[in-house]
Amino acid sequence: MTESYDIVIVGAGPVGLMLSACLLRLGPYNIKHIDQRPGPTEIGRADGIQARTLDVLQNLGLKRAIMSYNPGRIYEVAFWDASKDGTGIRRTGTSRSYPEYIDTRYPFSTIIHQGRIEKIFLDDLKDRRLEIERSWTIAGFRKDPCGEQSDHPLVVDLVSVDGRESSTVRTKYLFGADGARSRVRDLLRVPMLSKDPTMHVWSVIDGVVKSDFPDIQMKTTVRSSKGSAMIIPQGNNRVRIYVQVFPKNGQEPVAFATVPKIQQAANDILAPYKVEWEAVDWHSAYRIGQGFASRYSLDERVFIGGDACHTHSPKAGQGMNYGFLDAHNLAWKLHLVEAGFLRRSILKTYEEERKRAAAKLIEFDATYANLFSSSRPAGENNVAPSSEFVQVFKQNSLLTSGYGVEYPANSLTWPSTTSSTSTTALLPGHSFPTATVTRVIDANPVYLEQEIPFNGSYRIYIFAGKPVLTLKTIFDLAEHLQSKGSIFRRYQRKDIDTSYEGRHNPHSPFFTFSLVFHAPRSNIEIQECLPDYFACYRYHLYADDRELSQRGEAAEENAHVKMGFDVEKGGIVVVRPDGYVGCILELIDGRASALALDRYFEAIVPGSEHDAVAARL
Ligand SMILES: Cc1cc2nc3c(=O)[nH]c(=O)nc-3n(C[C@H](O)[C@H](O)[C@H](O)COP(=O)(O)OP(=O)(O)OC[C@H]3O[C@@H](n4cnc5c(N)ncnc54)[C@H](O)[C@@H]3O)c2cc1C
Repeated sequence: MTESYDIVIVGAGPVGLMLSACLLRLGPYNIKHIDQRPGPTEIGRADGIQARTLDVLQNLGLKRAIMSYNPGRIYEVAFWDASKDGTGIRRTGTSRSYPEYIDTRYPFSTIIHQGRIEKIFLDDLKDRRLEIERSWTIAGFRKDPCGEQSDHPLVVDLVSVDGRESSTVRTKYLFGADGARSRVRDLLRVPMLSKDPTMHVWSVIDGVVKSDFPDIQMKTTVRSSKGSAMIIPQGNNRVRIYVQVFPKNGQEPVAFATVPKIQQAANDILAPYKVEWEAVDWHSAYRIGQGFASRYSLDERVFIGGDACHTHSPKAGQGMNYGFLDAHNLAWKLHLVEAGFLRRSILKTYEEERKRAAAKLIEFDATYANLFSSSRPAGENNVAPSSEFVQVFKQNSLLTSGYGVEYPANSLTWPSTTSSTSTTALLPGHSFPTATVTRVIDANPVYLEQEIPFNGSYRIYIFAGKPVLTLKTIFDLAEHLQSKGSIFRRYQRKDIDTSYEGRHNPHSPFFTFSLVFHAPRSNIEIQECLPDYFACYRYHLYADDRELSQRGEAAEENAHVKMGFDVEKGGIVVVRPDGYVGCILELIDGRASALALDRYFEAIVPGSEHDAVAARL
């Protein structure tokens, strides 16, 4: 019998690795993961992890491995332009990487090269017993839903790169994470839509430098009369410099941009300052071309993600970041469909959500890259005025931080009907805001948004106001969540798991509850405030009491207020397993809140339609 898999992943760059890493946290998935290269990236390529991505990696338990490399951290950006007297360059301003209004725990970009990122993922996958099968590629695939294994409707032909071996496997899903020249995308006959046909050529060099340039350890953009450059401090005394180059027509960028040429161009642009290279780790050159795939999926069985779907300029530092979020978005949906908790049609939202996010990014990137690049060789510079460039940079920092992603209203994201939309913090389709609260069971201050690891379950946060005022409401809610006909009862396992290991999901792997009372921690008694149903979530019971320090001074933001909830009455937030807000509901007496929760989930769980699968509880 043909070997069968849950998923075949083609490409073990950051995006393919992310999908495997996510899926193996969600279930014992049988994954065949191939790559055509004999080994992973050693060094170079992507080197910037944006703040939202770091949140996601933390939720996967991978942040510690990243930070163990002591990566560079970019808190501020410096802008340099040609000096008016024509004698060189001068600093025209600085800006924070992420302005204050961006709600993040990490107000910096983390700089670590792609070789290290791939290694972190490969080590993680090895611990989970997945090895990448290297020097293999995909030859073709077809749908054969009627064969002997109809639950694995795809037949995929694989071939070794040297052509000596071949193999045919069956799978439920196929994911193409095979980069900008994706073979899977070609097999799907999906064209790339080009956003901007102007092709600027840039070179990049990484290494150790000795320089009198004052901002050599800062992220710096330089637009001089000799051309444009960007400096990225990589930490541990290493620096990356991007310089625009001008190969002759038909000349390949990599052949043109030799190390001495890149070094000379950098010195010309930074003059009168000098840069000497003590070591060169890596160099390359590339054309900037923005584009995105017209489709991301075939019949919700074959998907593409990362550079296979969208390409942009490396200088905005977004390709890998957006690709990671593609894989993260797809992983939990595949999992919940396979587990029988979501209807299959939900998989359509992968393309709907991620294509829209990529389109917005590409729009920004085309403007940014064009303003930064000059269309003529050094000496005849025609770059845009500094103020316009800096303005575009600043206006788009929400987008580049990753927090600007906004999913459209669909079956997973409901427009809000409560008054809390008047705040900017909590919005449907946006990532759940940060909130520091005190965990009741051990009095530890914790990051609420990180308390549930990426485990595939929906996170339902009940901001429960003042316990004396909402006691009846909370007991009513618990009663109705367990009533006949409730979705929550339907998906509840028979034996409730009250163990420490089961603390996130005592009732079901589909959902988890967290309760946050607006009261001092010492006033919250589990036996008094919580009905038995919610007492199972005692590890996820919190006090929103951090607004006053022990000395009575304002310390942290009140979580209820930040979410836009009344501190007495509270409210409910349904957060998807990837940390995006699905809907915001009122917390009210009687059945209403439980019914509203039911309505949200009723629209996405399998109904009586043909795609219903018995939930594996
Ligand atoms: C100089 C430079 C700097 C960059 N800086 C940043 C940055 O700071 N931040 C950022 O987010 N992004 C950055 N990027 C972009 C980033 O590198 C890419 O967006 C990212 O690598 C995309 O990941 P991916 O997994 O989709 O594709 P890739 O990294 O291209 O990986 C694709 C994988 O698929 C394999 N493959 C290809 N075809 C096949 C096939 N037919 N069969 C089997 N395997 C196949 C390849 O061997 C490769 O391992 C930069 C890129 C460059 C060039």
